[in-house]
Amino acid sequence: LPGFSQQTNANPPRLVVGIVVDQMRFDYLYKYQDHYGDGGFKRLVREGFNYKNTHFDYVPTVTAAGHASIYTGTTPEVHGIVGNSWYDRASKKGVSNVGDSKVKIVGSVVENPYGRSPQNLLSSTITDQLRAGSNFRSKVISVSLKDRGAILPGGRTANGAYWHDWESSPGYFVSSSYYMEKLPSWVQDFNKRELTDSYLSQTWNTLLPISEYDESAPDDNPHERLLRGKDSPTFPYDLEAMRKLYNGETTFYQVLWGTPFGNTIVKDFALEALKNEGLGKDIYTDMLCVSFSTPDVVGHTFGPQSVEVQDIYLRLDRDIENLLSTLDQEVGKNNYMVFLTSDHGAMPVVSYLHANKMQAGLAVIPKFKQDLSFYLNQRYGAFEWIAEFGYEQIYLDRKLIAEKKLSLPDVQQAVADFMQQQPGVRFALTAHNLQDNNFDEGIPALVHNGFHPARSGDVMLVYEPGFTATSDFRTPVSEVQGTGHGSGYAYDTHVPMLWFGKGIRKGETSRKVHPSDIAPTLSMMLNLQMPSGASGEPLSELLDK
Ligand code: ZN
Ligand code: ZN
Repeated sequence: LPGFSQQTNANPPRLVVGIVVDQMRFDYLYKYQDHYGDGGFKRLVREGFNYKNTHFDYVPTVTAAGHASIYTGTTPEVHGIVGNSWYDRASKKGVSNVGDSKVKIVGSVVENPYGRSPQNLLSSTITDQLRAGSNFRSKVISVSLKDRGAILPGGRTANGAYWHDWESSPGYFVSSSYYMEKLPSWVQDFNKRELTDSYLSQTWNTLLPISEYDESAPDDNPHERLLRGKDSPTFPYDLEAMRKLYNGETTFYQVLWGTPFGNTIVKDFALEALKNEGLGKDIYTDMLCVSFSTPDVVGHTFGPQSVEVQDIYLRLDRDIENLLSTLDQEVGKNNYMVFLTSDHGAMPVVSYLHANKMQAGLAVIPKFKQDLSFYLNQRYGAFEWIAEFGYEQIYLDRKLIAEKKLSLPDVQQAVADFMQQQPGVRFALTAHNLQDNNFDEGIPALVHNGFHPARSGDVMLVYEPGFTATSDFRTPVSEVQGTGHGSGYAYDTHVPMLWFGKGIRKGETSRKVHPSDIAPTLSMMLNLQMPSGASGEPLSELLDK
């Protein structure tokens, strides 16, 4: 059908590479640019299309919700991944986003009872659409250090999702019986190289002389957490010395995640997948999903002001350069396309904000819980009304409320009214209110987009900008070390979105877009039915002729 193919993408890329950099703030693209090489981030920006005003459009901005939203093209309201974990009312237990007791880990050394699968993901992904749309001739391979960073992008139909396991192996890449009975031989061979062990016998020092890191605070500053065995948060990090402190505990293998070698091993694995799975070698477009988890771990520990975070990005830049140049050789310069984004940003360390006269505060969860219990006991009688008090949501004991013949919306509203008066609380929205109303704008819209009635709480909490929730009663704002993410504020929502390669024109825009626009855009480029829950908009700058 020559006439037909002229107006559509007659010649789609042979390979789409999706890169998620866990906890990459938008500003990291620019803040460190003087020290980036020419072939990594700068190449993507220089030759590709840069969406400078990309924001997540829901809360909570956490890893599982982020990866699910990027690949399903919708928000937790629809895909159901409302957090890294949530409270299950039926079992009265926490549920992990990719937890699945019906399946087993494949490739672990010791028996591990905790299986993983995408069973909780309620919408199809762009990777599912690619698989089904090609009658399963397109291949999808997904890799990350984190289980959720691999499983959620791969969707329910990936050929393989692989993650780095430190609970039941010495840092091997494993998968799930959901996908396969045993690891492919190339993955077994990769594991036999014992790369985790050899990376962990090295010392992490700065890539460049430390005097050149003048975009960051001094290496020794009070806002950073200390690693085991260190009395200051400073370079060098002698990993072999740290090993001795772990006395053979397998948790030592997770130390890799907090070093630049965590990114390198994921890149190494992705390149092995590329070669051994023959990705991009035939007319059926394949997809390789790569999620770099290390920037998140290092960001939590040291904060965005740190030399450690800067060094991680300078080295990741070199890993991305290596990834792109290998794609040039293996797949061919004009045969592949890349998008790069993040699953959320990060808040500056609250003590850093405080020390620099910016708005900063703590929402102390145990204190809130105590005060709310006292209030509910006075109002409704002395019972355990609160089933679970999370950082951003409160689950009530609905059975008890029914037994006492109280109205659930009334109790929810009483809780919300009480919480609304607590210091640092900006909004407290009830489940009843969220189900009955459509919020189109502002913070309530973000809460609405992140709310799923069966999985979310009875009252959703939003704190003031610069506030962070903590379970720690004692540490004052001025002494907090390390940071996090999860809010609907720009430090957490504003992330990079870069497109590069086949069919992508050069350019940039400040139009506000969302990571959930990525999957609908790929649907247009690859002429695929959109993922089942898709609510994002195709990016017209990349598509319209
Ligand atoms: Zn993350
Ligand atoms: Zn994180």
